[in-house]
Order: sequence, then structure tokens, then C-alpha cells
Amino acid sequence: MSAPLPWQQPQWQKLLSSRERDSLPHALLVTGRSGVGKQRFAQQFAEVLLCSEQQAMPCGQCKGCRLIAAGSHPDLRIVAPIEDKRVISVDQIRELTHYLSLTALYGGYQVVIISPADLMNINAANSLLKTLEEPPAKTLLMLVSDRPAALSATIRSRCQVIHFERPATAVALEWLTTHQPEITAQSARTLLDLADGAPLKAAEMAARGIISQRTEMLDDLEKISAGRCDPIEITKKWLKLGKKESLYCVYGWLVDMVRMKMADQPPYLANTDVAMRLRKMAVEIELPLLYKRLDQVNEALRLSDNQSLNAELLLEGVLIGWTPRR
Ligand SMILES: [Zn+2]
Repeated sequence: MSAPLPWQQPQWQKLLSSRERDSLPHALLVTGRSGVGKQRFAQQFAEVLLCSEQQAMPCGQCKGCRLIAAGSHPDLRIVAPIEDKRVISVDQIRELTHYLSLTALYGGYQVVIISPADLMNINAANSLLKTLEEPPAKTLLMLVSDRPAALSATIRSRCQVIHFERPATAVALEWLTTHQPEITAQSARTLLDLADGAPLKAAEMAARGIISQRTEMLDDLEKISAGRCDPIEITKKWLKLGKKESLYCVYGWLVDMVRMKMADQPPYLANTDVAMRLRKMAVEIELPLLYKRLDQVNEALRLSDNQSLNAELLLEGVLIGWTPRR
């Protein structure tokens, strides 16, 4: 097993010392923005707790460790939405309650990870509350959530919160370039900006080829602004890449273009790798129009959480606004 992430050390050590004092809480609520490693942390802590060696790291050799590696440890349960469902149902929680009423097969802890916990529907949450109120001995429930506010206050009050802030940029960059040595320092910086500072999200974006995708999107945008391609076609293409990500990309470019308009040598740019190309586009656009586009993208981003709105129309509006005015 790999070591806990560098920015998770304080929380890791705290839990280990609770374990040593035999004072682990029955429930943890692991929070922080998407991509800081919450799920991984919960999984790693489950592993260390179920290792019979009881060291600071799992031994990797004992029966518990081997069962974990095979994904078949009977004392570890992971509860997540089933297949394409968007919720964790009451049946899933009832089944979990039944499971917790049995004793641990290997005589140690029974560990449960519920992730994302905020996807429990109201009945599921109520059902879990009973378990949280009268937890069986030697049980650890870990609720993982990016949106803890979506959980009821009663549930939150029954859990000890483990919160992860966005790590310091230098720490995140070092982890990213060590973890994925093929990423250049410059790309790492860009990825981290695109991922809003969350390193695991940045790594995942890198694996999906976001950097080259972004370059392709910039090609498209240049073509639209030169009147050389149809914004409606490009909208369809970008939607396949991901609506929100596409909008975030454009948003980041626009902000940099505004910075370029405001100063010859802007003190900070998020997209340094494509700065030359952005500067060229910025020259063609007056500042008020740039602000107007920024508003438009912002509004599209704001509305993009609303499932009932037509994503295609939103993005289309932004890209049509990019065509040259005749
Ligand atoms: Zn072990």
C-alpha cells in the first residue's frame, strides 16, 4: 500500500494515536473538495485498521491485508450508489445494519465506508441515524462527502469530522510531478489550476488527456473567432468532452485575457503554456466585450448545475457570441 498523501499526514497521525489509545470514534465524516483524496484516505485507514500487525502502515502480508488486496475482506463494507443510480437507498442501509449486527469475522473491527454519503436519500439517512445513535462496539463508519452540508445536522453531529483543505500549491505540485513523472512542471501547474487546486483531480485530468484536449479546444475557439468554423458543430464536440470542463476552460482563458488587457506584464496568469495564443486573441477583442463574454460564461457555469436546462443551448450561446461581428 502507498503511504498517506503528504497533506493528509496530520489527520492520519491523529487517527493512529486515537487507535493506540483505543479511543477511535464510531463514525468519521471525511470532508473536503473533490480530488483531495478523501476516499483514498478512508480506504487506507480501513486497511491499517484491518491489518493484524497494528502498525502505522498495513504490513501487506497478513491474512487481513491479503483479503483487502483481493477486495474480499468480510469486515470491510463499501456502500455507494448501485450502478447508474444517483442515490444510496434505504435497502442498502438496512442491509448494512444487518451486517453490522453480526460480529466481525476476524475478531477485529468492522469498517464501513459510505461514499458519497450525501447521496443517501432521506430514508436511508434516517435508517443510518439509528446505527449512529447506538453503534455496535468495534465498528468504524466512515462517511465521505464533498458536500457535507447536504447531510442532516443530526448525522453530522454524530460523526467526528476529518476535513482536508486544498493543499499548499508547492506540496500539490511536488506530489503531482512525482506521481506522474511524464507531466512537465508547466503542465502540472495548469492542471492544478484547472482542478481548482485538488491534486488527485489534476492527476485524473492528466490521465484523461485534458492538456491536449484543451489545446484542441483553443484551436476551435481561434477558428470560431476567425469565422472559420461553425459554433454549433463545435458545441456538439465540446459537450462530448464535458460541458462544465469546457466552460471552466473558456472561463480561465477569458480571465487571463482580461489580465493581459489590464497590464503589459500581468503578475499572474493561469494558462501560461498558451499565453501567446491567448494574447493574440485578446488583441482582437475590446475589454468591454471581453467582460461581456466573461459574464456569459459565468452565467452558463452558474446555470450548468441545473439539470433541467439545456446544456447545449448554454454552451452554444457562449460560442455564437465568439463569432466575429460583421
Ligand atoms: Zn497486515
